[in-house]
Amino acid sequence: MSTNILLEDRRSALLTQSKKGANYAPSNQHYGSNRYKRRLKSSIAPSIKHFNNMDMDKFFKTDTLDVSVDIRGETNIYKVRMSFVGTLEELHDYIKKNNIEQVDRKMILKALMKAFNRDDVYINCTCPDFRYRFKYWATRKGLLIGEPEDRPADITNPGDDKGPGCKHIILCLSDSSWLIKIASVILNYINYMEQHDERLYQKYIYPAVYDKEYDERQLSIFDDEEEVLDSDEETIETSNIEARKKGQFKKGNEYRFRKDNKDQITFDDLENEFEEEESDENLA
Ligand SMILES: [Zn+2]
Repeated sequence: MSTNILLEDRRSALLTQSKKGANYAPSNQHYGSNRYKRRLKSSIAPSIKHFNNMDMDKFFKTDTLDVSVDIRGETNIYKVRMSFVGTLEELHDYIKKNNIEQVDRKMILKALMKAFNRDDVYINCTCPDFRYRFKYWATRKGLLIGEPEDRPADITNPGDDKGPGCKHIILCLSDSSWLIKIASVILNYINYMEQHDERLYQKYIYPAVYDKEYDERQLSIFDDEEEVLDSDEETIETSNIEARKKGQFKKGNEYRFRKDNKDQITFDDLENEFEEEESDENLA
């Protein structure tokens, strides 16, 4: 793949294309760059229990985050699916640089944010706008995750000039609150597996997170047979409930993010928060 394609599909580039999206019919707010403004009429599911749809096996074995996020639209609830690589790679860098022995939620969040900003993002949404106007082009451009769409958007979006996606996707590209939830879901899953499935934790999860074997002497106890890390909704739900019981979500334990408006935490907010913290640490 050429560098051009890589750059073009990054989160910030996708968002810029959305902001510029042509006004197909200015009188009709459903079209063009108004999607960018209208993203604010939708909202990302507020509770962690809506984030149970994540492929943990794929994440820990291939460093690919493949996740569905529930978006409450103006009329319906839709699922935005996104996929990107590199979170564990970013986490490894951080762990090595800072001699970390145990990862926490903020480290995972930083790694997620860096990977999401750095690499290609593959997208999909269950809403009709995406299906009829964007899915064909996303398929053609290799941006789609999921079933390809081969029927051209001849009437609805013949020139591919409306940006890369519907307002639900635009919301996910601009509001980082789902990423903050995903960081918790990943940490809860790591802790859950350490408690309840020590063998698979040592075989797959610990090496994936820390980029080294759990214990060199124990390597021989693992047979070569490939095993699957369960990530059905019930398992993830249970890991979240256990974390809550342990008080990991106590008030005051949450990071406070400044917000541009009442519901959204933009990626800039998140980045500024981290940068300020790092400069505070350097001064201390
Ligand atoms: Zn949509």
